[in-house]
Amino acid sequence: MLTSTLIDLCEITNLHPGKKITILGAGIAGLVAAYELERLGHEVDIIEGSSRIGGRIWTHRFGREQNAPYAELGAMRIPSSHHHTLHYVNELGLSDKLCKFMTVFEEQNAFINLEGKIFKMKDAPRIFQQRYQGIFTDTRYSEETRLFAAWLKTIVDTISPGDLRESLDNDLKSHLMDELERLDLSRYFREDNESIDLQAFIQENPGFRARCCKALDMFFEDIVVETGKDLLQLQGGMEQIIDRLVESIKSPIKCNQKVVAIRVKPEFTEVDYIENGERYTRRCDYVLCTIPFSVMRKMELEGFDQRKLNSIHNTYYCPATKVAFHTKEAFWQKQGIRGGASFSGEGVRQTYYPSVKFNPESGSVMLASYTIGDDADRMGMMSESQRHNYVRDVVGKVHPELRSHSMVVEAASIAWGNYEWSAGGCAVHWQDEAVNTSNYLEAGRRQHKLFFAGEHCSRYPAWLQGSIESALEAVYDILSDKRRNYVARTSVSQRKDALTVRAV
Ligand SMILES: Cc1cc2nc3c(=O)[nH]c(=O)nc-3n(C[C@H](O)[C@H](O)[C@H](O)COP(=O)(O)OP(=O)(O)OC[C@H]3O[C@@H](n4cnc5c(N)ncnc54)[C@H](O)[C@@H]3O)c2cc1C
Repeated sequence: MLTSTLIDLCEITNLHPGKKITILGAGIAGLVAAYELERLGHEVDIIEGSSRIGGRIWTHRFGREQNAPYAELGAMRIPSSHHHTLHYVNELGLSDKLCKFMTVFEEQNAFINLEGKIFKMKDAPRIFQQRYQGIFTDTRYSEETRLFAAWLKTIVDTISPGDLRESLDNDLKSHLMDELERLDLSRYFREDNESIDLQAFIQENPGFRARCCKALDMFFEDIVVETGKDLLQLQGGMEQIIDRLVESIKSPIKCNQKVVAIRVKPEFTEVDYIENGERYTRRCDYVLCTIPFSVMRKMELEGFDQRKLNSIHNTYYCPATKVAFHTKEAFWQKQGIRGGASFSGEGVRQTYYPSVKFNPESGSVMLASYTIGDDADRMGMMSESQRHNYVRDVVGKVHPELRSHSMVVEAASIAWGNYEWSAGGCAVHWQDEAVNTSNYLEAGRRQHKLFFAGEHCSRYPAWLQGSIESALEAVYDILSDKRRNYVARTSVSQRKDALTVRAV
């Protein structure tokens, strides 16, 4: 199958050499598409609206020297199963920079703030018994069920947006405690008999997931990935992927060209953009649009069919906000914390510690807050200084060292929901169907010679893997330039594999 697809691709390329493709957006999807198209002998032209290349990959560096501390304001980890992302890490000569990313619940010395009671992760089972009330202390349920439910609630509370947290609370009260009591949970307790293996539980108990609300059922997939022990990162920053792609792409990437209108015609596409206050129109043979739908829906769009417009308008984007502190020193190491994350509670949620090495003379960095959903929106509404002070106050309850004025040297943050060029964190597949009426197949469906890619067009929204996969699919579709109905896209992962293999 793979071989015949490869032959197909070569034939298509030989039959139609020298296509000219205009790519809108210089995030990872646009850059991967440009890289592959050029390698296959086609000409690309990349239009980027912002002054920065990389989109939602954004490594913020606190200082210019080598090994200066940095924070990832966008993508920060790569699951080891994300073979497209890892393929490009390897292809671009970055595999020696790959190292383990210690994730949330992995560092036993990290902290949990449970309604004002602060304790170490390793003490959680004992504290759960004292702090949690109601169903978690209801002696009709076994001790095992209660402890398991307390962990489940804590994990969901740490990672999920508010509506899913509330939904789990309600489901536990109404029926999930009974369901847990019915199951043999002993196999999901780790050797210490105190912490749980949520991955194994979720994977082996689809019936339990099905009894949760649909959104939480789907969100469990992300929880499993985000709390997995096989996450990787790039020492030196994720932006190195972008830098290497830019070095390898021959065509210039034009920044500060904001696309404001797209008109689709059967034989060509017109793109209007604004540069230095002037509006220009470009007539293009092929266009690959990687601009998020949250931004596209504010543009003038002409010649799109209604189903496509519905998809552009209804794809739900979950907000995300990150706040990073450049600190004088890695004070948390004195408490035995080598990475991973604390649950700082309140509106701050997750606090990550670096598990890469910086030059100690330049201080260190903590990702003091990573939030999604309503928490992210609330912080997005604050001014930068309010947001930084708020995070410092809340995380300061867990780490009083932050209260010392000289400890935080500098802060950097981004509320992706307010960011002009993404107007949201990421498209997510777990949002309620009433809110999110679109799907990735529809998002990726072409309009004549206008093609689409980006995380929102993929099976892996909110992951680099999804952006890359959709870019490879679009490259294949452009080169084969046959009209497909969108059902045909269900098998494109095999075609995209072919492209990836060809690139090796
Ligand atoms: C907070 C956060 C954490 C994340 N963590 C991870 C992680 O740990 N691991 C992981 O794999 N993924 C993670 N992701 C997801 C990953 O970052 C994205 O899937 C990926 O970077 C998106 O790439 P893209 O090319 O699809 O879109 P983008 O990167 O958004 O690229 C779109 C480009 O279009 C440009 N553009 C927008 N509007 C216009 C316009 N009008 N005219 C011209 N250009 C325009 C933008 O400036 C941008 O450069 C995270 C995302 C966020 C927000």
